Amino acid sequence: MTKEKFTFQAEVGKLLDIVARSLYSQKEIFLRELASNASDACDKLRYAALTDPALIDGDGDFKIEIKVDKKAKTLSVIDNGIGMSRDELAETLGTIAKSGTEAFLEQASGDDDNTVDLIGQFGVGFYSSFMVASQVDVVSRKAGEDKAFMWSSDGHGEFTIEDAERDGRGTTVTLHLNKDDKEYLDETRLEHVIKSHSDHIGIPIVMAGEDGEKTLNSASALWTLPKKDITDEQYKEFYNHVGHAFDEPWLTMHNAIEGVISYTNLLFIPSAPPFDLFTPERKGHVKLYVNRVFITDDCEGLLPPYLRFLRGIVDSQDLPLNISREMFQHDPRLAKIKTGLTKRVLSELKKKAEKKPEEYAPFWDNFGAVLKEGLYEDQTNREKLIELVRFESTKDEGLRSLADVVADKKEGQDAIYYITGENPEQVRQSPQLEGFKSRGIEVLLMCDPIDEFWLPGVGSYQDIPFKSVTRGDVDLDNVADDGDAKDKTDKPKNKDRADMDDLIVACKVALGDAVKDVQVSDRLTDSPVCLISGDGDMDIHLERMLRQHKQLDAGSARILEINPDHPLIAKLAVAASDGKGTDDIMTDAAFLLLDQARILEGEAVSDPAAFAKRMSTVMERGLV
Ligand code: ADP
Repeated sequence: MTKEKFTFQAEVGKLLDIVARSLYSQKEIFLRELASNASDACDKLRYAALTDPALIDGDGDFKIEIKVDKKAKTLSVIDNGIGMSRDELAETLGTIAKSGTEAFLEQASGDDDNTVDLIGQFGVGFYSSFMVASQVDVVSRKAGEDKAFMWSSDGHGEFTIEDAERDGRGTTVTLHLNKDDKEYLDETRLEHVIKSHSDHIGIPIVMAGEDGEKTLNSASALWTLPKKDITDEQYKEFYNHVGHAFDEPWLTMHNAIEGVISYTNLLFIPSAPPFDLFTPERKGHVKLYVNRVFITDDCEGLLPPYLRFLRGIVDSQDLPLNISREMFQHDPRLAKIKTGLTKRVLSELKKKAEKKPEEYAPFWDNFGAVLKEGLYEDQTNREKLIELVRFESTKDEGLRSLADVVADKKEGQDAIYYITGENPEQVRQSPQLEGFKSRGIEVLLMCDPIDEFWLPGVGSYQDIPFKSVTRGDVDLDNVADDGDAKDKTDKPKNKDRADMDDLIVACKVALGDAVKDVQVSDRLTDSPVCLISGDGDMDIHLERMLRQHKQLDAGSARILEINPDHPLIAKLAVAASDGKGTDDIMTDAAFLLLDQARILEGEAVSDPAAFAKRMSTVMERGLV
């Protein structure tokens, strides 16, 4: 076949623009990315050869070679790994398969310094070559095939693929270096870069020198060394390599477990959230090795999905090498490893949460919402998980644990109160919180979508039930108003409250099916009205979420609560008692109160035209 021209998938085009523009301070990491890809390709072939040994016939020693051509000003990274077919070249080097790409591109298209960090978090992999090269050629021959192909591009919108020659299987990536990046022709510089970023790739990286071939890295699998011989720097380097990550590990866990099933884990928790955390696949990224042979980086049964932020490796000599990847998932030995790993991770997190809360806070910000998935998925570890959960609350004292909340419970308080919503700033304004604030009762602000799902399943903590402040069954009568409470209103309770009964009847008649009920409120101090859901009904926020995601057509009617101590409500009550309950103005007032409550919930008024008309009528009355 002759030379064929392709256009990059739009996302790749955008990514390449960002890469070329970004003055990433550590350009040299392009070499680590290429070496990691080469090492992954060798790992993949080693695994494939377990079932098809012919694939590595005559060339069983894997290696990665770095070659410079000073005259041509090119740098090549050469491997004898699995290689790529013509279609694979077009597919993998022309598109981005990564989930979360869209979100990344959206955030990174600006010109600010942020972009550099974002690129790090995203991990541009192969495309980082274009930080130092004006043209990149990839010649590849797939193991087991005899044809080779060359992919070539200057990184501007298009690439070509044509037939090529290559001795043996594997991939050669050749960079035509930019004028300003000639330092990467210097052997000493290259050796230094490999040493500092790719030392513990398990495959030797070699470079031709005056005295023959020289191995640049230690090529030992880092996890097989004793802990005491490994520096933080080496752990970080390995994390960056194995996780294709650019940040520092927030936590490193390296353990050798001896038992019925022996295994070693070298696991990391990132300090920056990866982009694919919330994609529907909920994929893990921990690599499984059997006796140092890479098996898969996508092993479903290795760790629970709620720990998918972990990076690193697990290696066991007690797992069989000769079963398929799919079979692994159901192997009871793997289940044992999973149980052990989960326990270890949760206990490390507990230590951090208790002993170093200030360090735990950023972890919680990054991954708390993921960890919470375990609360409804993993009953076995629920009790451990619940102790790890943190919340913002109306106390404004930073992150709170449930144990903190229970310890600070008010006398007579028989529930752990919470409110759900989109974000803490917004829910803090909710009128339903007023009565809780005036009594000094702490309310947890639950703003992760997942909260709506684990709460019903978990139900209680230390036998104290969770209760939403936006539901009907809240009874604050047993808890006295708190003299010291920050938000205590100065207004004394209206002892000579007008009788609310006539007003309630008037509102019910006026509003009809638009509300489920109208009742006097316990939970308001400043606002005249709020909406709540009935005991058996869906929570307001959950219902809104489901409607947004088109999982629900219409919301159920709400209960309108009125604040008897509010001057407006008191006046309306007097008017209703004076027989004006069925006047037009009373109907207008009832609808305006309902719409006001809806607006406070962040919802649209039900009938904007009618709302505007009523508003004008009432204003006119007030003004003239
Ligand atoms: P990532 O490594 O994160 O998947 P890259 O952009 O670096 O992303 O690489 C894209 C894909 O191209 C890889 O997943 C792999 O399938 C393929 N690839 C890259 N380099 C090589 C190589 N040296 N040998 C074989 N395949 C490779």
